[in-house]
Amino acid sequence: MSRFDRRGFLRTATAGAAGAALAGAAPTPASPARAATARPGGARTAATFRWLGTSGWRVDAGSSTLLVDPYVTRFDTGLAAGAFRPTTALTVDAEAVGRHAGTPKVVLVTHAHWDHFNDVPHIATSTGARVVGTATTCNLALAFDVEKNLLSPVKGGEVLDFGDYVVEVVASLHSRNADYSMVFPGVRLTRPERKPENISELPEGDTLAFQVTVRGGPSVFFMGGSDFVERNLTGLAPDVAMIPTTSSSSTYDYVPRLLRALDMPRVVVPVHWDNFEVELRNPPQADEKSRKSLAEFVAAVRRVSPGTKVVIPDYLTPHTFG
Ligand SMILES: [Zn+2]
Repeated sequence: MSRFDRRGFLRTATAGAAGAALAGAAPTPASPARAATARPGGARTAATFRWLGTSGWRVDAGSSTLLVDPYVTRFDTGLAAGAFRPTTALTVDAEAVGRHAGTPKVVLVTHAHWDHFNDVPHIATSTGARVVGTATTCNLALAFDVEKNLLSPVKGGEVLDFGDYVVEVVASLHSRNADYSMVFPGVRLTRPERKPENISELPEGDTLAFQVTVRGGPSVFFMGGSDFVERNLTGLAPDVAMIPTTSSSSTYDYVPRLLRALDMPRVVVPVHWDNFEVELRNPPQADEKSRKSLAEFVAAVRRVSPGTKVVIPDYLTPHTFG
């Protein structure tokens, strides 16, 4: 049985009690989140997924809202114009955040760069949402006066039950640029003495990925950077994967290795190709280099996994993924 066939078999098998027993005998270790949320006869939770630009998502599952890397303030750093200013001041557009973020129960943060983390402290302090991220993300959040009891530092391997969905944390990697490096590397092992004021004061702080499995619904894999630890993805087999595109070839065989490690997801949604320095308004903008990266990404997915549906998202459009 090919890997792809086995996936289909597992998906069918987990629909019933006998199937659940069969699924337990599968040779690939199954995701604990998948097992926990596919109980026979369990309630099915309706879920919608809306792209917030960059690698940001709003997930409404049952009665609760979950955010991933929400960054809707989208201030200008000169990046799109090719004149990047590393000391660009941090600012929050509270009106835009209020309009798009809802009242989340949980915010998952892949890493602490400004285009993933900037809006998170404001969201946590204004809504009481729990922030799940690296130690660096949590230490930076403390410096923005987020209460300690709202912070959940994680490393990868945690399987967190939030009722309507289960979150499996995956230790991952940040993207590499053409120089095999990244902007603003580093960690914060303790709370900074003062509130960060510019984007260079938000270091990457290690990178996570998250698999969110909606109870009785799809399992969706979220990435915030275009690299990964291949061995950490074994058995996740998500239905849907939100994958950042890359314009660098520093990471070997990025798309083929990733799709194989994820057991060829049914749906792939390319993210982080849009210009995130302009207002969150459709249609998403992208410069020529980013459009080329997107086109190459889509072509690579089609070549490696012809059965995968590629969904190029618009902002804020609700997707359900069955
Ligand atoms: Zn980053």
